[in-house]
Formats: sequence, C-alpha cells, structure tokens
Amino acid sequence: MSISPLSRKNIQALTPYQSARRLGGKGDIWLNANEYPTSPDFNLTNRTFNRYPEPQPQAVIEGYANYAGVQPENVLVSRGGDESIELIIRAFCETEDSVLYCPPTYGMYAVSAETCGIALKTVPLTADFQLNLPEIERNLAGVKVVFICSPNNPTGTLVNREDLLALLEMTREKAIVVVDEAYIEFCPQATMVTELKNYPHLAIIRTLSKAFALAGLRCGFTLANKGLIDVLQKVIAPYPLPVPVADIAAQALQKDGLQAMQQRVQEILQNRTALQTELSKLACVEKIFASDGNYLLVKFKDGPKIFKALWDQGIILRNQHSALMLENCIRITIGTAEENQRVIEAIALIP
Ligand SMILES: *Cc1c(COP(=O)(O)O)cnc(C)c1O
Repeated sequence: MSISPLSRKNIQALTPYQSARRLGGKGDIWLNANEYPTSPDFNLTNRTFNRYPEPQPQAVIEGYANYAGVQPENVLVSRGGDESIELIIRAFCETEDSVLYCPPTYGMYAVSAETCGIALKTVPLTADFQLNLPEIERNLAGVKVVFICSPNNPTGTLVNREDLLALLEMTREKAIVVVDEAYIEFCPQATMVTELKNYPHLAIIRTLSKAFALAGLRCGFTLANKGLIDVLQKVIAPYPLPVPVADIAAQALQKDGLQAMQQRVQEILQNRTALQTELSKLACVEKIFASDGNYLLVKFKDGPKIFKALWDQGIILRNQHSALMLENCIRITIGTAEENQRVIEAIALIP
C-alpha cells in the first residue's frame, strides 16, 4: 500500500526543495551553497543536557540585539532563517490568502508557502533585477506576506532602498513585508533595520549561516517590532534551539566573534573582486553580474556545459540555467583564494 495518497493533496504535489546538499555531487570544492569555505573553532561551555533549553536563550537574543542595533524585544531566534520564513507564513496567512515573491530569488519562499497550502503570486524582477512596483501593486489583493531578498540570492543584487520604502508604504495595514537580509554582512550599510521604527509590518530575516560561517549550526533571526515578534512567539516551537546551538551562537556574537566575522567579510570581498577580475578575462564568460553577497552570478556562452565540466572534476557550483531569466547562468560561491583559482583554471581549460 502506498502511503503518499494519505498525505495532504498539496504535499502530494510537492517536490522537496532542491538544496545544494540534496543535489549531491562528488566534489572536493564546494561552491554551491554560499557557505563560508572554512570553519571557525568553538568549544562547548555548557555541558548540561538533562534540562530543556531556554525557549529564547537570553545570551543569544541580547548578543544579536546588540550586534544588530535593536532591543532584545525586537529579536526572535529560530532554527535558521528558513524557519523564520515558515513561521511568518504560518502566523499570518489564512488558507485563502497568498504570498508574493519576485523571481529569480531564494527557493524557500515558494516551498514554505506550498507546504502550508498557501497560494503563490509571483511578480518577476525587472531586467536589471529590481522590483516591478506597479505590477506588485496590481497583484496585492489577497496577499498577506511579501518576500523580498536583498542582497538577492542568486543574482547578488541589492534592491533599491526607495523601492523597498515604496513597497512598505503600499502594504501598510495590508501585508507583512519580509526583507531577507541573509547576506547583509557583506553590505551592512544597506540594512533596513533603521526602518523598523517606521514600519510595524516590516520583518527582517538574518542568519549565522553565511558571514558567521555557521551554516551547520542552524541558527537564524527575525528582527521586527514587538507586536510582530509577539505573533511569531505564538507559533514557534517551545524549544527551537538545542543547548549546544545556543551556546555556540552566543559565543559567535561576542566581541571576538563579531571581529572574526568582520575579518571574514573583508577577505571574501577581496576574493570576490579577484575572482571577478579573473573571470572577466575568460572568453566563455558573457557577463558577470554585480554582487553584494559572498557569491557571483555569471552568465556563460554555454552555462550547462561549464557546469557539467566542473562537476565532473569535483568542483560543485550552482546551476541556474533553468531559473527564470537566468539561462546559461551559474552561481559561484566565493571560496578560499586557492579554490577560486582552481575554478578559474578549470574553466580556462574547457575547450
Ligand atoms: C541562506 C539563506 C537563508 C537562511 O539560511 P539558514 O541557513 O536557514 O539560516 C535565508 N535566505 C536566503 C536568501 C539565504 O540564501
């Protein structure tokens, strides 16, 4: 007997998110998930595991509030930024509501909405990867949550601040605007945190998975006004953060941890510039898009061929060929200088 027919209809129709890990590959150079290429070193300071953890560990909340320049009441910690996406949908969307997002962008907005049985509306980005505000406005009826990723994954583009402000004005008292700032450490001046005081319907997603080099930890944050955080507190699991996760997150958010993160960012930015320079010399490269993240979106003359050739050599990049507007494009995470060099050499040798 097949079990699948017993599952909810929208789940039967679902294909699991094609995460970098799930896509597999046998490689020694992993530049497909926007992770930091090396791991920081931590020791557990708390070795008591018989008790349930704090629901919202104080050291983590205070550490992140201090880092982000907000009050502890403006911070919710969750199992990665991905959990924040789902919490917002679950807390705000009725079955008849919909979620709006702007492809090409991060895949989890669609996956989380579909898992919850919430309808999707898409308004593609413009040719220069900016918001199509008139089209968003025309589509707002019934929309409860709008997801905007800035810097956008996979394009690397920062969304114009004036456009985000215009979106926040047009959604006032109608919908939640989620600005996904997973990569904001690579362009900190662009954060929307300073706008929280003006917009009760603004939620900002953050993570320790990228610049903090802790993707394996599964720790992310929502920043918002207290009213919005209080709503999310109602739907989050009672103990979302295991004790060791809270322990390491708190350490990463102390002064030394923040300094190390900022050093990593400087190094990634330098390596990104170097990779960009080298790629621009290659004949098979058609376009390198400007990026404010720890990755570059590159359009090749024949993207799938390049992707496959590197895959076969154990250099795993992220193929974007089938994403909307991204024909022949590959997203390359900035690795160590050596890894980036290997990428350049491997591409240069493709006939
Ligand atoms: C990586 C990423 C996240 C969150 O990642 P977690 O590992 O779940 O914290 C959220 N949004 C975007 C756009 C990302 O790239």
